[in-house]
Amino acid sequence: SFANSRLTPQALSEYYEAQFDSKGIEKFSVRDPASGAEIAALDLHGAAEAKIAVDRAHDAFRNEWNPNRVTAQARYDALVRWERLIRENARDLATLLTLENGKPISEATIEVAGGADSVAWFAEEARRIDGDVMQGAKRRQRVMVLKQPVGVVGAITPWNFPFSMITRKIGPALAAGCTVVVKPSEETPLSAIALTYLAHEAGFPKGGVQIVCGDAKAIGAELTGSSKVRKIGFTGSTAVGKLLMAQSASSIKRISLELGGNAPFIVFEDADLDRAALALLGSGLRNAGQTCICADKVLVHDDVHDAFAEKLAEKMARLRLGHGLDKSTTHGPLINAAALDKVEAHVTEAVEAGATLVVGGSRANPGEGLEGHFFQPTLLTDVKVDMSCFREENFGPVLSLHRFKTDEEALEIANDTEYGLAAYFYTSSMRRSWTISEGLEYGMVGCNDVAVTGVTTPFGGWKQSGLGCEHSKYGIEEFLQKKAVFLTF
Ligand code: ADP
Repeated sequence: SFANSRLTPQALSEYYEAQFDSKGIEKFSVRDPASGAEIAALDLHGAAEAKIAVDRAHDAFRNEWNPNRVTAQARYDALVRWERLIRENARDLATLLTLENGKPISEATIEVAGGADSVAWFAEEARRIDGDVMQGAKRRQRVMVLKQPVGVVGAITPWNFPFSMITRKIGPALAAGCTVVVKPSEETPLSAIALTYLAHEAGFPKGGVQIVCGDAKAIGAELTGSSKVRKIGFTGSTAVGKLLMAQSASSIKRISLELGGNAPFIVFEDADLDRAALALLGSGLRNAGQTCICADKVLVHDDVHDAFAEKLAEKMARLRLGHGLDKSTTHGPLINAAALDKVEAHVTEAVEAGATLVVGGSRANPGEGLEGHFFQPTLLTDVKVDMSCFREENFGPVLSLHRFKTDEEALEIANDTEYGLAAYFYTSSMRRSWTISEGLEYGMVGCNDVAVTGVTTPFGGWKQSGLGCEHSKYGIEEFLQKKAVFLTF
């Protein structure tokens, strides 16, 4: 059911494999996580192909995409053409996304539109890369501050947003005048290949946007080790982020990291409980709980705890697990068996240590042909702060409730973590809106709100949740370096 025959898994596999001369090479499978069925088999590339791609990107940065030859207007034009192609093919792209990631088609459609928004944002930013003129230290001296592209960018992205993670990295890189080699997650490479295909159709040079995947470790080592790559942009786990940062140290690469989170969600006694419950389900269970800003640890004031838990349980009874392409599905599967094992272990550990299981709690098989990695949306109460489901990122559909009595206690528990990505709280007090917003050690804070992402605002973590930020007026700066040019007259 693909309108554009070039965007089928088969056509994209061929498009991808035509990049490198690798006949007879080993392949890896891309599977539908809802059914386990193979949707594509791709050549398993490694260090050798990564090196070829870097050389081509380096060459494109010197030639076809050289900032001295390609004007800001031309970069804008190409990005706008790319945006248009994404919007025109949105249905195919969303279908592909759901097939490889499992999320409901409604969420996939939103992700594709968000990706197009991101490209549009950075198209505009391409024309706004302005410098400065400053006073020199001497008489008759002026200094121009130029902003120039950093060069070749290596981007490594995860499977939970296979589409928008690519656009938010490639978009600003190309807008700034850089060239890019992307390594998407091997779980979900097809969305990334489709985006590359459309980027080439939009007129970006072949060497300007490339994709390599297969052996993550080998490709990562090549991208971080090469002195031709001047920047690494990564979204993924904190553990891999640390490794890439260490590997990048040998050549002092610029590095942006969007890492794990462990988002607190605080419900104060003066909160609108219905609104908070709805928001918590939206945030905590989004993408089956597999986003880095999903609410993980829920702190509920003692006075409203039971009423709040009841509201959650009522609403959770109406959720429907299933294949993402089935329109009645509200929640899809987890990405793979390891993800399922981790969530199950967290829940089992919590229940054994005294948590109360209110809703869900186990693996599920929502229907015929759905032998994938489904876990029931789960609600736990009486969760203690040292339990894994509370302290660690679950990356699954689990809400863990813990009671508190004072604001100080809530803030202390919320901040007692190495993570610092997103945090949420619900209150009707103006004073709390400020004190809690300022007290939370997080990069994004939602006060009576869980929609904390968008192209206009910075996205980035504090502490071990990351370095740098994406989107907003600050995002493009990560791909630019300043040069002071001294003029004496
Ligand atoms: P997740 O747990 O969400 O899969 P990861 O950090 O493992 O997070 O994966 C994010 C991205 O990092 C994926 O593209 C993955 O293939 C890649 N990756 C994993 N290990 C390495 C590594 N050693 N070097 C480079 N990239 C890696």
